[in-house]
Amino acid sequence: VIDNGQPEHAIVTTCAYCGVGCSFRAEMKGEQVIRMVPHKDGKANHGHSCVKGRFAFGYATHKDRITKPMIRASIKDAWREVSWEEAINHAASELKRIQAKYGKDSIGGITSSRCTNEEVYIMQKLIRAGFGNNNVDTCARVCHSPTGYGLKQTFGESSGTQDFDSVMKADVIMVIGANPTDGHPVFGSQMKKRLRQGAKLIVIDPREIDLIKSPHVKASHHLKLRPSTNVALINALGHVVVTENLLDEAFVNERCDVASFAKWKTFVAQEHNSPEASESITGVPAAELRAAARLYATADNAAIYYGLGVTEHSQGSTMVIGIANLAMATGNLGHDGVGVNPLRGQNNVQGSCDMGSFPHEFPGYRHVSDPVTHQLFENAWQAELSAEPGLRIPNMFEAALDKSFMGLYCEGEDIAQSDPDIKHVHAALRAMECVIVQDIFLNETAKFAHVFLPGSSFLEKNGTFTNAERRISPVRKVMSPLAGYQDWEVTQMLANAMGYPMSYSHPSEIMDEIARLTPSFSGVSYEKIDRLGSVQWPCNDEAPEGTPIMHTEHFLRDNGKGLFMLTEFVPTAERVTGKYPLILTTGRILSQYNVGAQTRRTENVAWHSEDRLEIHPHDAEDRGVKTGDWVGIKSRAGETVLRALVSDRVQPGVVYTTFHFPESGANVITTDNSDWATNCPEYKVTAVQITKVSQP
Ligand code: SF4
Repeated sequence: VIDNGQPEHAIVTTCAYCGVGCSFRAEMKGEQVIRMVPHKDGKANHGHSCVKGRFAFGYATHKDRITKPMIRASIKDAWREVSWEEAINHAASELKRIQAKYGKDSIGGITSSRCTNEEVYIMQKLIRAGFGNNNVDTCARVCHSPTGYGLKQTFGESSGTQDFDSVMKADVIMVIGANPTDGHPVFGSQMKKRLRQGAKLIVIDPREIDLIKSPHVKASHHLKLRPSTNVALINALGHVVVTENLLDEAFVNERCDVASFAKWKTFVAQEHNSPEASESITGVPAAELRAAARLYATADNAAIYYGLGVTEHSQGSTMVIGIANLAMATGNLGHDGVGVNPLRGQNNVQGSCDMGSFPHEFPGYRHVSDPVTHQLFENAWQAELSAEPGLRIPNMFEAALDKSFMGLYCEGEDIAQSDPDIKHVHAALRAMECVIVQDIFLNETAKFAHVFLPGSSFLEKNGTFTNAERRISPVRKVMSPLAGYQDWEVTQMLANAMGYPMSYSHPSEIMDEIARLTPSFSGVSYEKIDRLGSVQWPCNDEAPEGTPIMHTEHFLRDNGKGLFMLTEFVPTAERVTGKYPLILTTGRILSQYNVGAQTRRTENVAWHSEDRLEIHPHDAEDRGVKTGDWVGIKSRAGETVLRALVSDRVQPGVVYTTFHFPESGANVITTDNSDWATNCPEYKVTAVQITKVSQP
């Protein structure tokens, strides 16, 4: 990548980092990107960008890129470069051999929110139609699967309700378990703009996030709760709304299932859900809970934005449901300035879920056992499909250790670094007979792989990403794939080698098929995306230009009514004890991205070169720890070392770290506790002991 002189041409494409989905003009000299310029017409970013999208694209041509397919007989052997034909044939014959030996259900695949919609779609199609099972899952399993579950149950659709611009009409903004200025910087800036205009802010987070510290922004309430107590807190807010009659009964009577509402009212009104009872669990003073509930419920427009601090808990799905209950009870849905808005971490979390990458759902969130949908896909794909849900990622690991899941095709996801209780993951990968990794780098998972298929970066492919506001935006090829093929072409080659024919000549044909088979996408086409710049689903005959705000007249459940569900608080199994007296929670920083595979290979690394452990001054003093000291962190799952940062941004009893650098090993210590409904790992709650150690 160079940065000199005038571009010869520019191509509009979409950032491959976070779920804001900023639009950029890639300014080109020949096939070299000379700069990325935020696109003024981008409807998600309106000409703005953050440091990652604007500057951290150099990884695409980094020297670590692997551009030749490779195979090896065992993970102890050295890699051997081979032709594409040999690699694909070897991968296919290994998968077929495993199926012949262990059965049809002994193989599967994991796709990623880094992939385009079209890539995810044909990956799950290959697995369902070509492998003959539903053993497909996505990295959304470990981030927003509770969002998919909770919002589908209550609202009838697994997505956020608003467009980003809606925040400019919000009078009260409630941010729960999210750090928008670091995790979703461009939307975080838009939020700050609205707050500077006078909107009130409620933050629910164990740690002081940057939004609170921003100039001219002041949180009316920071409910600094203990990690793992979200549900007790949301129930207390519901309690105040009900017992102080702050409900929007007209909205509820017209739009919601009134029988479920009556049950919810009775439930949250119980004494054990009162702010006073909640205080003893959450640590948040009852008066603060009452004041925050009143502020939210009495605002003309109150909007909730949440992140992984909601979902990555053993009650992640319960908390999503609790948020939905609160919004329905106060009528904060269906118009500008309100809503329930999950802030998606990765560029295409929403899209990868939409495209049927969960083991129980076809594209468009339709259960694999639904007879009508099942028949539709059998006819369209000309294949016999299983009506049984397949294995989730953690079930794949369990099955591998039981010798019943022995072959994995993993695209764009580094499970050996990003999944919890990493020693267990490594053991499962070691147990498999064939692991196929398709990625742009030899990532941690590739250490356990037998076949490596070089992938293509977002600059080398055509497709679409869907951001957190359901906006489908173009991803356009600005340079030739370094390894010769785009990722969707690699999957197609593997499908054909497996004996399941695919013959797409362009991703637009894949999108046309998605539109034919998915009602909420029936009006989507590349022609429309190019003409409008982007389009928000649902996009169909009812909404040919797309849908910025959902549930304006009815919810998408079968009877059109929003459903209230009970949200009993259940303490996490992860307990603080004398041996493990502190709770570790995790988050992100602006200049880095997730496990850092991309940003660590750019200049951004100069701004933040290591993960640190934030520890409260009292806890630090107890242990003789000062900023810059090395500390050992030990949990029931494992141990690692980090450098300490003494800070009162965390409360006593809580420590915090980011997870951008593999050497810090954050997931060595996270446990295998997970959400009851979706198995989303409880990354946000790990009981640990901290001791000062000498430099490792
Ligand atoms: Fe990319 Fe997100 Fe930054 Fe926008 S806010 S430039 S999508 S990382």
